[in-house]
Amino acid sequence: MSDASETSRPGLDFIRTQVKLDNESGKHDGRVFTRFPPEPNGYLHIGHAKSICLNFGIAAENQGHCNLRFDDTNPCKEEDEYVESIREDVKWLGFDWGENEFFTSSYFDQLFAWAVKLIEDGNVYVCDLQGDDVRKGRGTLTEPGTNSPYRDRSVAENLDLFQRMRAGEFPDGTRTLRAKIDMASPNMNMRDPMIYRILHAHHHRTGDAWCIYPMYDFAHGQSDSIEGITHSLCTLEFEDHRPLYDWFVEKLGIFAPQQMEFARLNLNYTVLSKRKLLQLVEGNLVNGWDDPRMPTISGLRRRGYPPDAIREFCEAVGVAKADSTVDMAWLQHFVRQHLNKTAPRYMAVLNPLKVIIENFPEGQVDRMEAVNNPEDPDAGTREVAFSKVIYIERDDFMEDAPKKFFRLSVGREVRLRYAYFVNCTEVIKDANGEITELRCTYDPASKGGNSPDGRKVKATLHWASADHAVDATVRLYDHLFSVENPNKVKDGQEWTDTINPDSLQILEGCKLEPALAELAPGERVQFERLGYFCADNKDHSAGTPTFNRTVTLRDAWAKEQKKMEA
Ligand code: ATP
Ligand code: MG
Repeated sequence: MSDASETSRPGLDFIRTQVKLDNESGKHDGRVFTRFPPEPNGYLHIGHAKSICLNFGIAAENQGHCNLRFDDTNPCKEEDEYVESIREDVKWLGFDWGENEFFTSSYFDQLFAWAVKLIEDGNVYVCDLQGDDVRKGRGTLTEPGTNSPYRDRSVAENLDLFQRMRAGEFPDGTRTLRAKIDMASPNMNMRDPMIYRILHAHHHRTGDAWCIYPMYDFAHGQSDSIEGITHSLCTLEFEDHRPLYDWFVEKLGIFAPQQMEFARLNLNYTVLSKRKLLQLVEGNLVNGWDDPRMPTISGLRRRGYPPDAIREFCEAVGVAKADSTVDMAWLQHFVRQHLNKTAPRYMAVLNPLKVIIENFPEGQVDRMEAVNNPEDPDAGTREVAFSKVIYIERDDFMEDAPKKFFRLSVGREVRLRYAYFVNCTEVIKDANGEITELRCTYDPASKGGNSPDGRKVKATLHWASADHAVDATVRLYDHLFSVENPNKVKDGQEWTDTINPDSLQILEGCKLEPALAELAPGERVQFERLGYFCADNKDHSAGTPTFNRTVTLRDAWAKEQKKMEA
């Protein structure tokens, strides 16, 4: 999927190609400094992971470094909780910024000094227009704007007013500092954009030291410059801001980073806008930022997605110039591939139906040898206890079974994984006709699940021994939205109306192999036949075993690929 632009070198995307060209021409003396610049106004999501992998990846490939910069210019929306979560998520994804952690708010003094310099050079002015008048003055995409009546204030007056803005003399929104560029520019960003605003608000790091704050556009490029960022990688929506960033850097005569823009990652069946994710959290439409249905890094972690799988996915998606939406099934494909190799197998019965093996001796416990991971010869084996009373999955039994139903039914023999062949003899029901219990017989000669005489069975079921199993809570997940693109809804519909009401299913009283209770929170396993699961990183303990299904075993993406190849 990587960009096919003519300038790309074989095997390299257009950004890596440019970096290589710069290294060859000695543009930055071979330095490659990048940065990942989140605004701490929410938790990171899978889209950010793409940017993180790209920025840290390019730095590492070129023996450079990648800064973690918190772009904290908007005091109203930013919080330390978000700073903490961002650090945790970047680390968990496997990247290390070392000493290179910065905050745009640390540059407030420098940015202020630069604003003063721009005033002195006649490049910016204090404007008293407010609200609607500013908007009207900007014009439209088809009509030029009009010059502000304050545009030609003297340097002295501008300096005086700007200092007094800083000193707190004026209420919020009454004055702004604007760049004096071109009200007729076809690029709206160049029509005398606001660079400072009055805002009497407490900042998560600078407290009440400031009542004027630089706009993001005034801070971003200069922050890159201060940090000596050679390659400033942004998403496409900043392409039209680049001329403005270049204008500031040129007027200030400071180091000019090179900005390049790539397409955002979009995924189907979810939303990747921090504003919308915040709305889900604040409206209690999900259970917090780390709800396993969320596309946040913390949600994916809690769901059981391995960081390696997320990195591999980001690499496969690649960087391109054209926007596209990636299939969630493709991300899950990487998760499955990774877990198939690494996750130990266990047996768990999610919807238990009691089975009594009538001819199995009372009190006897057979220790069956089970393979921990058929994909990993080093993973070895373990013992699983088998006894007279066991549980099987309710839907592995059918009373009046059609011919094609190969699992358990009266008179139909199946294999219990690693244990024995069993045959159902009787169905026990309660007064409502609900099946409460099955009676079976077993063939002692089939120990280990091996056929004693070459006779075949059509199904192998997983099971749990009643005396040994632990009770657990298991949560199953489906897409958070029931439509592919929740950002595009029908007239009269809200995007939140498309939330999938069945996206979370909580099962209690599931019967698990006892070893599963001892797993550490966050450990990932396979429940045979049911999928990959992860011990919940908040609620799981030996006393309250709690598992989240990461993915099912069925790889829809790989299946689709095969069909396309055929
Ligand atoms: P918002 O959702 O409010 O637009 P944002 O997602 O752009 O915010 P930032 O904190 O500004 O949030 O993002 C930090 C970095 O991550 C930026 O460089 C941004 O370009 C990049 N980024 C954000 N979303 C994506 C995405 N979906 N795909 C790739 N990169 C992204
Ligand atoms: Mg942004």
